[in-house]
Amino acid sequence: MILDYFRKIDALLLIVTIVFVFIQVWLELEIPGYMSAITNIMTGAEEGEVLDEGIPMLGCAFGSLVISVFVGLIIAYIGTNMGKTMRARQFNQVERYSATEINKFSIYSLITRSTNDVNQVQMAFILGLMVMIRAPIMAVMAIMKISTKNIGWVEITIFCVLVMIVCIGMILWFTFPRFKRIQWMNDDVNRITKESLAGIRVVHAYNAESYQEAKFQAANADLTGTHISVTRAMAFLQPVMTTIMSMLGLGIYWMGAIIISEAGSMEERLADFSDMIVFSSYAMQVIAAFMMLIIVFMILPRAMVAAKRIDEVIKTEPTILDGEITESPKGQNGKISFRNVSFRYPGASQDAISDISFDVDKGETVAIIGSTGSGKSTLVKLIPRFYDVDSGSVIVDGIDVKDYTLEALHRKIGYVPQKAIMFNGTISSNVNYGDSEKDRTEEDVKKAIEIAQATQFVESTEGQYQGKVAEGGTNLSGGQKQRISIARAICRRPEFYIFDDSFSALDYKTDRVLRSQLKKETAGVTTLIVAQRLGTIKDADKIIVLDEGRIVGMGKHQELLKDCEVYYQIARSQLSEEELVR
Ligand code: ADP
Ligand code: MG
Repeated sequence: MILDYFRKIDALLLIVTIVFVFIQVWLELEIPGYMSAITNIMTGAEEGEVLDEGIPMLGCAFGSLVISVFVGLIIAYIGTNMGKTMRARQFNQVERYSATEINKFSIYSLITRSTNDVNQVQMAFILGLMVMIRAPIMAVMAIMKISTKNIGWVEITIFCVLVMIVCIGMILWFTFPRFKRIQWMNDDVNRITKESLAGIRVVHAYNAESYQEAKFQAANADLTGTHISVTRAMAFLQPVMTTIMSMLGLGIYWMGAIIISEAGSMEERLADFSDMIVFSSYAMQVIAAFMMLIIVFMILPRAMVAAKRIDEVIKTEPTILDGEITESPKGQNGKISFRNVSFRYPGASQDAISDISFDVDKGETVAIIGSTGSGKSTLVKLIPRFYDVDSGSVIVDGIDVKDYTLEALHRKIGYVPQKAIMFNGTISSNVNYGDSEKDRTEEDVKKAIEIAQATQFVESTEGQYQGKVAEGGTNLSGGQKQRISIARAICRRPEFYIFDDSFSALDYKTDRVLRSQLKKETAGVTTLIVAQRLGTIKDADKIIVLDEGRIVGMGKHQELLKDCEVYYQIARSQLSEEELVR
């Protein structure tokens, strides 16, 4: 899976790295050879000759150091780039997701996956690769050097390696499952932290600090407990390694003593002695190589969990896919039809809307009214394909919405959601938003803001049209956000407007002026309005009354007052007796 994120250059760099590591290990393994030569000299010659062997030895050490630094840099470069690619791919994929996929993962988890999890994999990759290339090369080359030596020493080394594998295996066996759990616990801690921060005002207002704290502490304690038990197990690692190394050293010298005492002449004894010194440093290298490999296996579990979570995001295909049509047929624009449309949210037990049929003609204004939860928002969300219908069809300009490319479909629609969404930037960048933003001028932005009745407040804010909008629009009131959000749709000059309860945060007067302006400026543009207030929709060409996801009335205000009980009840709660004459 990791290989998926490699570019050609990375593969090339990797090969270069492997070559470098070979050279580095070779240099490193030359050092004991010089050591043994020096030992030989020590026993007879003058000190001047020590330098003859010592200088090349230092050269080897220095060369190995320089190459090590290089290798580290290259691997860090490859690893960081891999992290970048992972984040980018996740971001692009998540952008294609429909609401269904986003709900499946949850926003918090998606954020953790593209930050924390990527870091986790990146770190393991960088550490792991350094060791993973070096350790096997080191082990093989060191073993090759050793194997020509005395058989007794080799046996002791093999024995020590085996003991080490068993010890570390036991530690791993204990820590492995816990490492996995830590990743999920991290998710919990993140989720609770973010939930508390996002809702901090409510937390304060309801004095719920201790409640949130308790929740946090439980998750935090879980995480800490697992960390501690893992660390405790890991604490054995170092002493175990030191013990094994000492055991090995002792073993080699003990065996050496026997070998030397059996040797005949003084020369032979000396040769055996220097052999022993060389052998023990190679043996230590073998042990160190194995140990490094094993340490990688300890970082690996967490990284593997993280990599899997990243992969899930990238492999999940959006359920809502592009059609092929980019242009609707001539003379068909401005029309929307629903044909026996039913839709149920994934996992819900009931249809959110069922068997909905109606037509909207070019230039018409159609209003949708009904109590909360009656399915109004759901109905309009089917037009831009935020969800796909379960049965029936939604037809825009004579063509099923599923047949359009999403881009072409969305270009037709000026959608204003129930909850205004603001992006970090300026007022102007929030209004002139989305594709073809270059085609729209400053004048278009001003005009859109004027129609949306926002000119007054925009011009009185600091910076005016370039005034700052914070992330999520936290520096604007609900009504101001709604008007910017409406201006955004107007600025696009779409073929259809969809207003999902977009006037609810406006006062009655602004609501009325805005709609009359809009009507004047956008005459001939098909408009769908979802609203709670009768005042907002009374003059619509057609009113659709929804109740529990079904159409219970359709017609003009006066007709509905007479024929539709649900509509009459809504009207009765809002209008005076005179206005209610049936
Ligand atoms: P309205 O806009 O008329 O207030 P909605 O269309 O938002 O109503 O909701 C209709 C029904 O669908 C409600 O019963 C609501 O609980 C349910 N619903 C809305 N959004 C979702 C969702 N994302 N997942 C599951 N059920 C949902
Ligand atoms: Mg709604």
